[in-house]
Parts: sequence; C-alpha cells; structure tokens
Amino acid sequence: MDEATRAEVKWPAHRSAPQVELRTDVPHSARMYDYFLGGKDNFPADREAAEDLMAVYPATRTTALQGRSFMTRAIRHLARDAGIRQFLDIGTGIPASPNLHETAQAAAPAARVLYVDNDPIVLSHARALLTSTPRGRTAYLDADLLDPSRIIRSAELRDTFDLDQPVALSLFSILHFVPDDRDPAGIVQELLGALSPGSYLAIAHATGDFVAPEVAELGTTIYQDRGIPFQPRSRAEITALLGGLELVAPGLVPAHRWQPEDGSAELTDAEVSSYGVIARKP
Ligand code: SAH
Repeated sequence: MDEATRAEVKWPAHRSAPQVELRTDVPHSARMYDYFLGGKDNFPADREAAEDLMAVYPATRTTALQGRSFMTRAIRHLARDAGIRQFLDIGTGIPASPNLHETAQAAAPAARVLYVDNDPIVLSHARALLTSTPRGRTAYLDADLLDPSRIIRSAELRDTFDLDQPVALSLFSILHFVPDDRDPAGIVQELLGALSPGSYLAIAHATGDFVAPEVAELGTTIYQDRGIPFQPRSRAEITALLGGLELVAPGLVPAHRWQPEDGSAELTDAEVSSYGVIARKP
C-alpha cells in the first residue's frame, strides 16, 4: 500500500498507534466537509467531489459553516442553560475549532464527551479530540451509527457516562447520510432508549426544502454516484425522526435561525439548507 494512504493515528502516548487505511482514492463525507470548512485534511478525490457539489449549489461552504455554528450554539445551550454534563456526539468529523468538548467544557468544566465516528481519517485525528479539562473527560469510539447497539454496549460509553444521569445525544450533519432503508428513526429511538429521562437530542440535517427540486436532486446524485448515500429530508421527514420528544424553542427551524447570536440570521434559508433542532426526552 502507498505510504500516502496510511496515516499513523495520533494517539495518546500510552496507547499503541493503530495504522488506518484511508482510501484516499474515493471521497469521504468527513473530508469533503473538512474541505467546505477550509481545512487541510482532504485529498484530490474529496476536493473534486466537493467542487462538483459547489458548482451545483454554490452556498455549500455557508451551509457547512452554519452547521458548525449551530452546533456551537446548541451545545452551549445544553451545557449552560439545560445543565447537561454528558455528551454523546456521533458523526464527530475531523477536528475543527471549537470542537464540541471545548464548547461544553467552557460552560461546564466537568462535562464528559464521547466522540463517535466510523471514518479512519477522523480516528487518525482522535488525539486532537482527546484533550479535556482536568475535571471533565473526553473519549473516542470508532463505531458506526448504523450499529447503535454496539455503541450502547461499548465500554467507552459505560466508562464515560453515568447512564442514570441525562445525556445529550448529538447527530450533527450525519443523519442525511442514513437513507430511509437503514431506518434512521429506529436508530435514533434505540440510542435514546438507552438514555435517562431528561436527556436531549440535537440534530442538524440537510434539506432540499428551500432550493429548486433539481438542485437537491443533482446534489444528491453527486454524493450517491461516489458511493456516499445521501438523503436530504423535508421538515416533515425530520420531524418524524424526533418521535414524541418535546422541542426546545424555537423548535425545528433553519439552522441559522435557531437562537441566533450574530448576523447569520440575515442569510437566506436557501443558503443554509439545513434544519436545526433540540428536543428533550420526557
Ligand atoms: N458533526 C460534525 C461533522 C459532520 S460531517 C459537524 O457537524 O461539524 C459527517 C460525519 O459523519 C463525518 O465525520 C462522517 O465520517 C460521519 N459519518 C457518516 N456516516 C457515519 C456512520 N454511519 N457512522 C459513524 N459516522 C458516520
């Protein structure tokens, strides 16, 4: 195998560094997202796919930046206003400042975070996510959202959290990579079933609601033709993923309109094309 396709995992010194297969010849959603955010952890195949998408939908970068901004506001709300101290983040992505634990621990220094992703490039950057305040904790689990029972049963989850206390489950910009035939609603339900009452679910999800149907269709095809299952969802379809949870104000809205803190509310819904929502398990 070519050296360039291998990466040494930057792991804490006491752990041996696993070698991971990056498959740089095919695009990965994590690396395309990194490219949209202006990061450097992407390869020609990722950039080519990302540029194709940007040609069809020029606001892609804005969408990614607003997704990240929603994540920061949502986590700050959960840590500061809802009193949550445990965070299960599935589909973490390549580290980008501020990472979720930095936001949570700035509000609550004892916050504990378990990051989960199934992409080797994210695993190879895990060390950047495993920094924590002394009072808090961060951990990383290499696992697939499509196998929720493995996440629930993992030692990492049991070691990181007290499951008698509420947990915030975050699925930021990942559920649109889980098509209906993989039962995203069932996956969400199974994960939430393992969490105590008073737990929260935070979601950012791509939508075609605000663009011409052919733009959504073409964008979907660009991912799917490269082997990345992508399914933007309507407001009603995302609502269906939430089951019977109680929505936190302002409910399920375009991500930049969820408790906006800066000028981002001036962007159009089409430029953001993503919904954000926080819901509470009664
Ligand atoms: N949550 C971050 C990154 C979103 S990019 C943010 O909002 O900024 C989507 C991430 O989901 C990528 O890192 C990708 O590797 C991960 N992902 C996609 N499908 C996955 C799956 N089935 N299981 C685990 N992670 C997955």
